[in-house]
Amino acid sequence: MSGRMREHFELRDTDAGGRIGELTVPRAGVTVETPALLPVINPNLDTIAPRRLAEEFGAEILITNSYIIHGTDDVRERALEDGLHELLEFPGAIMTDSGSFQLSEYGDIDVTTEEILEFQRAIGSDIATPVDIPTPPDVSRERAERELETTQERLELAETVETGEMLVSAPVQGSTYPDLREEAGRHADSTELDVFPVGAVVPLMNDYRYDDMVDAVAGAKRGLSADAPVHLFGAGHPMMFALGVAMGCDLFDSAAYALYARDDRYLTVRGTRNLEDLEYLPCSCPVCTSHSPDELRALPDDERETELGAHNLHVTFEEIRRIKQAIRAGNLLELVEQRARAHPTMLDGYRTLLDHAAQLERSDPVSKGAFFYTSHESARRPEVLRHHRRLERLSVPDSLFLTEGQPARGDEFDDSWRVEPPFGPFPRALSKSYPLTAEVPARTDRAALEAAADGVARLAEANPETDLTLGHRSWPDGVLERLPDDVALTDLSSDRS
Ligand SMILES: [Zn+2]
Repeated sequence: MSGRMREHFELRDTDAGGRIGELTVPRAGVTVETPALLPVINPNLDTIAPRRLAEEFGAEILITNSYIIHGTDDVRERALEDGLHELLEFPGAIMTDSGSFQLSEYGDIDVTTEEILEFQRAIGSDIATPVDIPTPPDVSRERAERELETTQERLELAETVETGEMLVSAPVQGSTYPDLREEAGRHADSTELDVFPVGAVVPLMNDYRYDDMVDAVAGAKRGLSADAPVHLFGAGHPMMFALGVAMGCDLFDSAAYALYARDDRYLTVRGTRNLEDLEYLPCSCPVCTSHSPDELRALPDDERETELGAHNLHVTFEEIRRIKQAIRAGNLLELVEQRARAHPTMLDGYRTLLDHAAQLERSDPVSKGAFFYTSHESARRPEVLRHHRRLERLSVPDSLFLTEGQPARGDEFDDSWRVEPPFGPFPRALSKSYPLTAEVPARTDRAALEAAADGVARLAEANPETDLTLGHRSWPDGVLERLPDDVALTDLSSDRS
């Protein structure tokens, strides 16, 4: 609601809900380009040393758990004495989690919001996290509301703690109630806090409930202002980054690279593989080009874990770079469509994302590279929705021929417009403008025809006085039924004289 200016986060490029941004982290003296991946570091056991994360993988930011540091005597003393950057030997920004996750897993932690924030500041954290209540999915609405109230009280308390240059995150909870997520987002946005994790989505991801995850994030995004940096807390599998970014998430954290490596699991953007099942390594990272699967399997446990962890990280950072390039090129949704094919539940996630096309449309650029129609889901993209809205504002003559074929000859009509599935009708003068320059398959599908028919219907409803005639190439009856009765029809395919 407050919509106050956030000087530490600047948006540079957008595509659908995705964006490239710059998160300035004043205490670390660094600017992190987003979307960014924060590798999770357990100070008690690092699979890959933080210095290596920075030097070899280009990690600009990582996350570690202040609750674990607080609870481990020797680590705590060293963190307080030397600071986190020295302790971890990491030159970039360091975010700390508060232990809320431990709270959700083990039911109880023994520190207050003030104590844990002051501790995070004392150990030199650059972005701190208050102790919120990570309400799990599917709880009663009453519980979700009650716990959200507690989280909101703690965020308000966190605002009053003297934190200096340290940024402080404001987790957005609300379980699987999108309206509560929205309310939580609006409340968090109204505070003076800086970074906005969408919390407690890990159980959804563990159960492959990407559709519910999308609804939760979409709710939170509706409450947050556009310049709020959003962290999808606990999302570390590269398969779902493109989906998360397209929803408007800017920060991801990965413990997966290390946890999976420990279990001999090999990450790919199309899902997880077990090392024992691999006869080939479908990757060109240094690990995969210097080992065969047999050689990896033959390594001692700790070495194999490190090598697999390195591969997992390479794949993860590679996907983040691919996503940034897709945003820059304006084809993020094509990438999401590809990733959606990795798993049926990812497809559910993408289809749910398209339920929020109107929300995505607000940040989608008016013009970008060519729109590629690559699946029937493409018919529901924000660009199609925007074109349909635009149809209501276009001026039309008294009689108009809408056609998939040649313009009308003679003076039967005042004008002829093109019809192109999935967009529907448009004046020929717009043919060269985005998204009507789209590349569409010659063998069109039902979803594209239905979307085109909806466009015709939209135009007809906005202009009841205009005589509309549609020249179509044998659209099925079920598609034609979407049109108002007063649109005259002519089947161009049956007219081969
Ligand atoms: Zn690899």
